[in-house]
Amino acid sequence: MRATLEIAGIGIGPANLSLAALCEEAGESSRARFFDRKPAFAWHRGMMLPGARLQCSWIKDLITPIAPTSRFGFLSYLADRGRLFAFVNAGFEAVSRAEFADYLAWVAERLPGLQWNSELRDIGFEDGAFTVHAGRESVRARHLVLGLGHEPSLPACLEPYRGTHCVHAAEFLERTLPLARKRVAVVGGGQSGAEIVLHLLRMANPPARLTWISRRSNFLPLDETHFSNEHFTPAYVEHFFSLSVERRSELLREQRMMSDGISPSTLRELYAEVYRLQFLERGAPGPRLLPGRSLVACAMVNDAFRLEIRAEDTAIREALAADVVIAATGYRTALPSCLEKLRIVRDPATAALQLGRCYAAAWDGPPGNRIYLQNAGRWSHGIADPQLALLAWRSATILNDALGREVFALGGTASVISWSRNAEHSVLADSCE
Ligand SMILES: Cc1cc2nc3c(=O)[nH]c(=O)nc-3n(C[C@H](O)[C@H](O)[C@H](O)COP(=O)(O)OP(=O)(O)OC[C@H]3O[C@@H](n4cnc5c(N)ncnc54)[C@H](O)[C@@H]3O)c2cc1C
Repeated sequence: MRATLEIAGIGIGPANLSLAALCEEAGESSRARFFDRKPAFAWHRGMMLPGARLQCSWIKDLITPIAPTSRFGFLSYLADRGRLFAFVNAGFEAVSRAEFADYLAWVAERLPGLQWNSELRDIGFEDGAFTVHAGRESVRARHLVLGLGHEPSLPACLEPYRGTHCVHAAEFLERTLPLARKRVAVVGGGQSGAEIVLHLLRMANPPARLTWISRRSNFLPLDETHFSNEHFTPAYVEHFFSLSVERRSELLREQRMMSDGISPSTLRELYAEVYRLQFLERGAPGPRLLPGRSLVACAMVNDAFRLEIRAEDTAIREALAADVVIAATGYRTALPSCLEKLRIVRDPATAALQLGRCYAAAWDGPPGNRIYLQNAGRWSHGIADPQLALLAWRSATILNDALGREVFALGGTASVISWSRNAEHSVLADSCE
């Protein structure tokens, strides 16, 4: 094993790629190594549907909000690809996901210290450092940064049928699904479900019958209005972190549609497609749209799925047949089992990881060695955590804490809203007290 590193990063999605870019920008990349099980950088390939767009500004790329002059920013990528003027002229409302994925891969190609084909095999702690065994490599590092993303999550009743005819949205484009002239059911009323339904409606050989099931009371929009976007700022994250566990849970429920709704542009396109099929194309049945329904059971009958759904409003149960089921039912946190031995502390009530302000988990080891978690802090840091919006700021927060100095200034905390302070006697500057 070589000399002890400062940081071993496991997983190289956008989160740890941002941290790797900041390390290189700060001249610290020789003190960090990052490992990923994939053979090369790829971003949600199974959902790279034509026309899919980024749900936040491209300015919130891997590094720009923290180091706006960095050579790893989206503008440098455009300039390097020779299309900066064309990009400006295009006047896109939002960047395509395909272009952003290409930008991420472009950054990955330019960073040292990224190790591919390196699945985490084992992890331990001895003599004041973590020992990380990933792929064929073993390294020692003072701190760990886990950026492992989330696992696709299927409803329990679909789990036994996972295979060629029942897939999670994450695999949609990576499987050759038999869709043409089949009965297809899409389960899940978020952005992924909406994008898949739109894609199926536009296919040259579409399904014979398309059904879209969502537990939500309607196909609800993403709230991306100005004041809601203030929840995706460092100022709000600081505020959210200072609140009680109970208050945080209330707010997460209230703010759900600010992160999990469907982009208004996708809804507009979907409605236009449904209108075209239902009213203008004679003989083509429109899709069957079933919001307010929960999938409660699934069975195989005569080589087809028999899906049992329950209406949320009336509790009435209905059954429908499908040849193919696509579950756009979200993701869940799943840490590799070898991490168990580090005894990372979980909240006894919610089982959520207990993260500190700088994203370090409470664990059963020396406080000078930290286990940071990227994209695992929705409960502690709020709805921005699973999104791209604060990648650079979160990575800079982690890097400063890990190296014990202000490598990057964490500005950007100005907000148009005065969030309440959680100090007992705090008073507004112009209050009468
Ligand atoms: C289809 C889709 C579109 C999205 N679009 C947007 C958007 O437009 N705007 C937005 O703000 N957010 C978006 N998100 C949410 C979020 O930004 C992304 O999920 C983002 O990829 C999260 O980055 P990450 O690095 O935390 O995780 P991931 O991108 O999931 O990366 C995790 C990495 O860890 C690796 N890994 C996992 N386990 C191991 C292991 N045991 N050993 C080694 N490596 C391992 C994986 O191979 C993977 O490369 C989207 C999410 C999805 C699913």
